[in-house]
Amino acid sequence: WFITLEGGDGAGKTTQAERLEQWLGAHGHRVVRTREPGGTDLGQRIREIVLHDRGHVTPRAEALLYAADRAHHVETVVRPAVARGDVVLQDRYIDSSVAYQGVARGLGADHIRSVSDWAADGMTPDLTVLLDLDVSIGRARVASARGDVFDRLESEAATFHETVRQAFLDMASAEPQRFLVVDAAEPADVVQERIRAAVAALVG
Ligand code: C5P
Ligand code: MG
Repeated sequence: WFITLEGGDGAGKTTQAERLEQWLGAHGHRVVRTREPGGTDLGQRIREIVLHDRGHVTPRAEALLYAADRAHHVETVVRPAVARGDVVLQDRYIDSSVAYQGVARGLGADHIRSVSDWAADGMTPDLTVLLDLDVSIGRARVASARGDVFDRLESEAATFHETVRQAFLDMASAEPQRFLVVDAAEPADVVQERIRAAVAALVG
């Protein structure tokens, strides 16, 4: 099974994925927890460029770097894990590219989706959990967790992140069978319970 977690910065994707990994493991599932960008050695190098390179990375180049990370990651990590029957829990995937590069950066959702689909070569999530959160709350969580150290994307204006949030919600309404939308302002335990219910229905 291939399960992705999406949402803005500070929504709790990593925390929820960690807890879900423990719970699935306790129920006898083999779990691979991973992320994009940065789920491979090559991906780590790409992540450094897109998140921390203070030099100029043009929007199209940025989109293609995410796609390159994805192509390598899907082929070497995700697809083999799903093929051997593991549950893959992944922090961010194609929906992030569509929301950030396609919509918020203005490159076009359709273009980014087709580049991403080509990179992923047909690997589609069985379930996508969207952790939906008010932008200012997410920002405050990141600030308190990391002491006001923001990466290049997190430093974008609030309107950029509002656009990202709405793009995720629009994708979820367009594909309600794939998405579970959870109110990430709820306590972490409540969020986790909602996710577990959907995952249990999927993996049995
Ligand atoms: O989820 P994580 O914190 O690892 O994401 C790192 C950064 O990359 C975030 O600030 C996010 O906004 C950005 N990102 C992006 N486009 C993607 C994936 C992540 O702008 N396709
Ligand atoms: Mg982040």
